[in-house]
Amino acid sequence: MQNRYSTPDAEAAVARYADRGIDRDLALRVYTTQLLGREPRLVLHGGGNTSVKTVAADLLGKPVDIVCVKGSGWDMGDIEPEGLPAVRLEPLRELLALETLSDEDMVNAHRTNLMRSDAPTPSVETLLHAFLPHAYVDHTHANAVLSITDQPDGLDRCREIYGDRAIVLPYIMPGFTLAKAAYEAYRRQPDCEGMILLKHGIFTFGSTDREAYDRMIDLVTLAETAVGAGRGAIVRAPNLPDTVTRPAQVAPILRGLTGRFIMEFRAGDDILGYVNGAELERYGRSGVATPDHVIRTKPWPLILTVPDADDLASFTDTAREAVQRYVAEYCAYFDRHCAGQTRLDPMPRVVLVRGLGMFALGNSARAARVAADVTEASMNVIAGAESIGRFESITEAETFAMEYWSLEQAKLGKTSELPLARHVVAITGGAGTIGSATAAAFARQGAEVALLDLDSDKVAERAAELGCLGLACDVTDAAAVNAAFERICETYGGVDIVVSNAGGAWQARIGEVADDLLRRSFELNFFAHQNVARAAVAIMRAQGLGGSLLFNVSKQAVQPGPGFGPYGLPKAATMALMRQYAVDHGSDGIRSNGVNADRIRSGMVNAEMITERAKARDVTEQQYMTGNLLGREVTADDVAGAFVALALAPATTGAIITVDAGNIAAALR
Ligand SMILES: [Zn+2]
Repeated sequence: MQNRYSTPDAEAAVARYADRGIDRDLALRVYTTQLLGREPRLVLHGGGNTSVKTVAADLLGKPVDIVCVKGSGWDMGDIEPEGLPAVRLEPLRELLALETLSDEDMVNAHRTNLMRSDAPTPSVETLLHAFLPHAYVDHTHANAVLSITDQPDGLDRCREIYGDRAIVLPYIMPGFTLAKAAYEAYRRQPDCEGMILLKHGIFTFGSTDREAYDRMIDLVTLAETAVGAGRGAIVRAPNLPDTVTRPAQVAPILRGLTGRFIMEFRAGDDILGYVNGAELERYGRSGVATPDHVIRTKPWPLILTVPDADDLASFTDTAREAVQRYVAEYCAYFDRHCAGQTRLDPMPRVVLVRGLGMFALGNSARAARVAADVTEASMNVIAGAESIGRFESITEAETFAMEYWSLEQAKLGKTSELPLARHVVAITGGAGTIGSATAAAFARQGAEVALLDLDSDKVAERAAELGCLGLACDVTDAAAVNAAFERICETYGGVDIVVSNAGGAWQARIGEVADDLLRRSFELNFFAHQNVARAAVAIMRAQGLGGSLLFNVSKQAVQPGPGFGPYGLPKAATMALMRQYAVDHGSDGIRSNGVNADRIRSGMVNAEMITERAKARDVTEQQYMTGNLLGREVTADDVAGAFVALALAPATTGAIITVDAGNIAAALR
């Protein structure tokens, strides 16, 4: 493993943080914590922790010995000084005198000794850091170290590799007992550079940030060399048929069977090698690579056979039975170990489909991505372990203790779900004014958003702003629409809501309009809506979770304006299309509704057009924009609010909401 320590970079960090009043010790702690955290072979997503012991002044100016330990909720890769809360060292060290200490009392001791009452709660491994005498202590869950220690003979392997350089401790759940055991082991061997925690990870320490970091890289490199030396590929299962099934065909089926999670699909060479392995059932279900993975991935994945593209119905049946079996096994596991805890939902968080790849499930796109990253890391650990021996995890009881440990559950957060959490919304014309406002409105309700737009640069920009999926797509091209929905299925697992919003305003008197112009308008203002709705409905039906189609119609559909025929005629057809979907797919639980908006400043209704329309009616632009019953201008946010309201109205289908601040001539009758 490459040592990335750079003295100029370290000094630059010291100078940068000095401007903010951060002392040198803590600045260097932040620097090497980020170095460790940016190496995915060492830690991922909140895993691992580091500390530094230094001196701070209290309010009276008296020096106080403190230990700054990574706080929960922070990721090592982008940690800042606030992510390493300062705790008074002496009161923590005095706890060594105790024989036992409950988790609740331990966390209480962490919090009551904080220097700042508003600091994040320090890591559950704080006492381990505090008991050791070194100024700098680093802890990671390095893949290679886990490949060595996740073995029936992990202890012997570690002793052989590390000799006197590192202490080897058996698996003990994090907390007071582990902290005390680590301290006692250290006292017997005070010259060591680090500590290997079997089936958990590695600690290194030193008197400087550099010494602790160098030792981490050195000790991990020894493990990497040992794994690399014996490395062979996982043996592929014999007679495993190839499949032409696309992940986007399988995702909605799995999403329906597991109950509307967000699902991310991945299939690199390493993942395929792993899921196609001859002994997948054994190594894949043996348990987690390091204990804190369990809260992201559950104790084991759901494994499914190779799907047959010509017979997805029987794949669905097999998958349904497999999900039911998984749920039963998970509930039995819970019952075997439960001691008063409340059972979590029993659905898998990782689904491995032979021949295809991995689907990771989560309550949000972020949670699914974390589960996918963690699973890729554990595949790397397990493949390494299998290449030199046989992967072995902690026991089932130890896994359960970790999964249902109150301090681990706290990492998942307790916030209640927003109304559209775990829902996927696709929005066409997504980079425009109304599309962007609609995307933001759905995101505020917790939905995962996919933006589709003809303008590839603009959609990429908007998607980056929102942190969502952005796809360049010409919605008049049915094949392009289908391809875009495939991408949505691979990224989020399926689709629940579609806002078919893309449109374009063409004008001409109807007796004089060129055929070609009228047809072009029909392509975008009618057929594109059909392309989008048809693609979405196919996915919604495969999911079996219902769905919501939302069309941006237009008041032109009910109140034609002079010279606006080329725009209004296909929009009238689109209103009929909306109702036809309500009629034909109500039995699938799919609702279909529309919004008739009028006079919104947007890319389509631009300043030039407003000037033109105002002139045609012989009014000022201001009068034109506010010429309605409420006397107010209608905004893109008003339209967005109507789409969200329809998405949240479970008993409404075949309906139009007008968003025009009152125009009785355009009211539906
Ligand atoms: Zn750990």
